[in-house]
Amino acid sequence: RTTHIDEKLAGLFEDVVKRNPGEVEFHQAVREVLESLGPVLVKHPEFGTQKIIERICEPERQIIFRVPWQDDQGQVQVNRGFRVEVNSALGPYKGGLRFHPSVYLGIVKFLGFEQLFKNALTGMPIGGGKGGSDFDPKGKSTSEIMRFCQSFMTELYRHLGEYTDVPAGDIGVGTREIGYLFGQYKRITNRYESGVLTGKGLDWGGAQARKEATGYGAVFFLNEMLGVRDDSVDGKTCVVSGSGNVAIYAIEKLQQLGGKVVACSDSAGFIHDPKGLDLALIKQLKEVERRRIADYITARPRARYVPNGNLWDVPCQLALPCATQNELNGKDAVQLVKNGCIAIAEGANMPTTPEGVRVFAEAGVAFGPGKAANAGGVATSALEMQQNASRDVWDFAFTEKRLAVIIKGIHQRCYETAEEYGAPGNYVKGANIASFIKVAHAMVALGV
Ligand code: GLU
Repeated sequence: RTTHIDEKLAGLFEDVVKRNPGEVEFHQAVREVLESLGPVLVKHPEFGTQKIIERICEPERQIIFRVPWQDDQGQVQVNRGFRVEVNSALGPYKGGLRFHPSVYLGIVKFLGFEQLFKNALTGMPIGGGKGGSDFDPKGKSTSEIMRFCQSFMTELYRHLGEYTDVPAGDIGVGTREIGYLFGQYKRITNRYESGVLTGKGLDWGGAQARKEATGYGAVFFLNEMLGVRDDSVDGKTCVVSGSGNVAIYAIEKLQQLGGKVVACSDSAGFIHDPKGLDLALIKQLKEVERRRIADYITARPRARYVPNGNLWDVPCQLALPCATQNELNGKDAVQLVKNGCIAIAEGANMPTTPEGVRVFAEAGVAFGPGKAANAGGVATSALEMQQNASRDVWDFAFTEKRLAVIIKGIHQRCYETAEEYGAPGNYVKGANIASFIKVAHAMVALGV
């Protein structure tokens, strides 16, 4: 029976590859989930007969659109926009928008696929989706960013709605971009529909702690994993990749919990400050001045900047990949284990390659996969939707407490599900199985 199911899953995966040629990141994300599902199909044959996997692997809707805009020289530019509405069994499509030159349909599909399961794990009533554009915000003026966002929304607005599809930010999309997108949605529809986007500014419908939530949540999850081993973040040396929104607030919470963060990075290189990173300086450089991380050493000559270096060579006990997909490979994982790393929490989506995940599992390193460890961001987006729907505003402390409770719940769900399915301590399996079952039950209940 088990070999039969393994063959069936292998066949389903082959079909996904054939139906989505060249979309390697999507294949990777699907394979990782399907590899966990054998025992689920044994226990729930109805998921097989109802073709739940086939249905989940085919997004409900995939929207591709043209985004024309004018640059500061008056030249017309054309980019491509995407919104993949993966699954709405649990609630309206929910997931961020990514603006980055690497964006194509395969990236958006992988992110949407991950998002579906992540959102299910939060226990909040939100479905899965993702979007974005191959637009490169690097080097663009604020007016160009605004015109691009307005053009993007001029096409996308018809597919959105607080009960339909609710985007947020991701790489290249922060509060500024959400503001321009929301302004255009409001202009076109003549509705102050706060709940149509999350990650809004605090003055115009945003939620306290949303900006901090992904990074904070990843550290809460890390601390939960360490708690199982009678350990904690306190006193540990930490390395965080990236220096965007997720990385900055992961560093902040690590420091608050007594961790010593010695290195972070951007796409050009990394900084190593063995005495501990100066977070106020990083915030000033990245959030206010929108500069490169290399500029850190001008103000802190005690630190070193390594262009094009490998951040994962910096010795640490806790590592948080918070930059982008496949940024930590098998070799990096071997190096981290050799240097005494005991736990990983993925702040980014799918930052560790399958080979890296295997290395950590074999070494007994506590490994929190993105769909569990970085779910704090989208969970707090759901809290933002809740405040918008009830026209309420919560304070920071209350919202952060809700976030902490949600993360505790996610950790427990993953931990217990892994035990139940014979893979104790394996958060990858726990997260995949628990979230799949939740989506599958809803899909069966709602009919074909
Ligand atoms: N882009 C974030 C993620 O990967 C947040 C999505 C949201 O808040 O909707 O989960």
